[in-house]
Amino acid sequence: MLEHSDFSGILLEWYDRCARSMPWRGIQDPYRTWVSEAMLQQTRVETVIPYYTKFISRFPSLQDLAEADEAEVLKLWEGLGYYSRARNLLKGARQVMEQYGGILPRDPLLLRKISGIGPYTAGAVASIAFGVPVPAVDGNVLRVYSRLFGIRENIRLPEIRKKLESLASSAVPADRPGDYNQAVMDLGATVCVPGTPDCSRCPLSSFCSACAEGDAADLPVIPGASLQKVLCWTVPVLLSGDCLLLRRRTESLLHGLWCFPLLDCDPEELPSFLEKKMHISARPAGEPVKARHVFTHLIWEMLVIPMEAPPGSDAPDGYHWIPVSGLDRLAFPSAMNVPLAVARGLIKK
Ligand code: SF4
Repeated sequence: MLEHSDFSGILLEWYDRCARSMPWRGIQDPYRTWVSEAMLQQTRVETVIPYYTKFISRFPSLQDLAEADEAEVLKLWEGLGYYSRARNLLKGARQVMEQYGGILPRDPLLLRKISGIGPYTAGAVASIAFGVPVPAVDGNVLRVYSRLFGIRENIRLPEIRKKLESLASSAVPADRPGDYNQAVMDLGATVCVPGTPDCSRCPLSSFCSACAEGDAADLPVIPGASLQKVLCWTVPVLLSGDCLLLRRRTESLLHGLWCFPLLDCDPEELPSFLEKKMHISARPAGEPVKARHVFTHLIWEMLVIPMEAPPGSDAPDGYHWIPVSGLDRLAFPSAMNVPLAVARGLIKK
């Protein structure tokens, strides 16, 4: 069996040479590590950097964040996706103010009791900001370890996941645990990528089971991982006078964000659907536009249809006529980028 001491030093040497530069690195501030890790979940570093910079300049300390309005936090998060991360971050910051006087605890078990901090983030904050030798295991890390150690079983099975977590746990060196965890993350993001990894650039290639066997592209084994549910929506962009019809979502997905109506109706029958179900008489005001948004386990296929309704139309239950001049103050998910572009085109007409 491969010993961790065999490769942890080599990986750290590689990290010292090749670490990606990020604004949250090299700063011993648990709050900033937490914010960066919350933003980095499911999101690329290049996307996160401008959001992080703006967020930290508005909320430089945990106390500043704890005192913020949720609407402002969501607005700063707009376009980053997975908005429950922002809500939980705010909730967690308030919890840390109340329970720990504004200072994040260093114990990963206590960190995990804070809203929005799961095992991965607890490991990342404890190791990076406090130097606690614990792993931070996310999908990238599982991929690297399953290849390195040749784990060729379904990583969704609890016993296999446990095995990988225990390998990850024993791999973390007592000195530089934060750098080591970040090195594994960097390796997974830049070299040992999903699909075909670039083993020729990998510092661990001589230790790696998948590289020796030539089956890295098949690992990790995740049966059914590509099965995503597809939902088809007809999305009217309804202009009435200088107002657009919008709804603030109450569902857990994109909770609290603003969306155009997402209707489960045949696009051909949209005018009669609006009339019968929403009591709005409207007529098409332009060509429909197709849009697609991919979530982790879900795809929205949307047909966005510009429509015009008479000024002064009533808003159906749960919907609001929002003046066009107020759009920039609302937080929209990136799934609404195409409907928003259609709305802007409609307003200019
Ligand atoms: Fe991943 Fe290839 Fe490196 Fe193995 S050698 S860890 S498969 S990049």
